[in-house]
Amino acid sequence: MVSDEFSFIHQYFARLKHAALPESSSAGVVLGIGDDAAILKLSGNYAITTDTLVENVHFFPNFNPHLLGARALEVNFSDVYAMGARPQYITLSLDLSERYLDFDKFWQAFAQGVEECLARHNCLLIGGNVTRSNNRNAPLTISATAFGQCVGTGLLRRNGAQVGDRIYVTGSLGSNGLYVKTVYNNSLRNLDSDERRHFEEHAFAYDARMSKFVEHVVAYSQCGIDVSDGLLGDLSHILMQSHCCALLNYESLPLDELSRSLLPHFKISEKSLLKLGLSAGGDYNLIFTVPQDKQAAFEAELKQDPELEGFLCTCIGEVVASESEQDWDHNFLATDSGLITIVNAQGEPTTLRLGVGSFNHFLRNSSLSEV
Ligand code: ADP
Ligand code: MG
Repeated sequence: MVSDEFSFIHQYFARLKHAALPESSSAGVVLGIGDDAAILKLSGNYAITTDTLVENVHFFPNFNPHLLGARALEVNFSDVYAMGARPQYITLSLDLSERYLDFDKFWQAFAQGVEECLARHNCLLIGGNVTRSNNRNAPLTISATAFGQCVGTGLLRRNGAQVGDRIYVTGSLGSNGLYVKTVYNNSLRNLDSDERRHFEEHAFAYDARMSKFVEHVVAYSQCGIDVSDGLLGDLSHILMQSHCCALLNYESLPLDELSRSLLPHFKISEKSLLKLGLSAGGDYNLIFTVPQDKQAAFEAELKQDPELEGFLCTCIGEVVASESEQDWDHNFLATDSGLITIVNAQGEPTTLRLGVGSFNHFLRNSSLSEV
């Protein structure tokens, strides 16, 4: 039993300031965990972002704590990378109910997940906060704020897409959406425990080589966003801010292979997996655009980087001009209003009906219930 907030911080988190990182990562930290605030001495441009995970909204009460610790950081790292920056420092805040105070095994695994993730991304934990609610049923809430140094001078802005640009996405689509769906409908139980663990780890895996990858992206792109709420919805943000439309090639969409192989266990069709890949949140891939005349050089450079062997990055379509008048300021449900067309190999529009484009906390008819 942890007696108070201070011993809780000490037991699980304060020691992480010694996380095994190269010396370069503590450059700039005048003072880390242990005082009223951290002190940093910075130079250059920084991307700063906050993201929160809430029990029952972003994760299930019995979710694997080791993966949860990493996830709490990665949802922030993903935003940092999507600006063309590399995470360097992070703070972590936990709001817990009394119920959680005694879960020693949970917090040990959570802190280990945090520690390993910090090491993978070469990022330093510089502070945080812990609050405790007397309401035993209050959800566990985990917030982190990441500070990332911009790589090079360019930024990846949502308004940076130009007609003719190629659209790329990293990683594969649909595993996280499928995992969440099969937890909800109980069909995850159709897998044996080893398969289940493997699928869970796969669905929450985040390739830390993004840190290397982003160097190449900023050299060729001015436009990017991370996929936190579903590919179509997040791509729509780019299109709305860049005032253009997109054609996506149905055949090139990188559906997740492991998820595809598991579909018979869940009695789910490939088309439903595709819908999850396009509209469910949680894959945390990066979408970015590259001007057409730089496409060949960009792809050649990626192939030549030995550190990125096997790193998935797929060209899924192109940016096109809008054929009709658009109300760019009010086009919130862009996938419904035709900004994105998915075409088959012959270039004909497909009849894929997706409804609302992505997960939206303020819409009841979100993709989770819709697919
Ligand atoms: P204060 O009362 O001034 O807010 P705290 O007791 O909350 O101070 O925190 C003491 C130190 O521990 C601070 O340096 C703070 O940044 C750090 N800290 C608190 N919670 C966490 C956490 N969850 N992870 C990492 N560091 C933390
Ligand atoms: Mg505090």
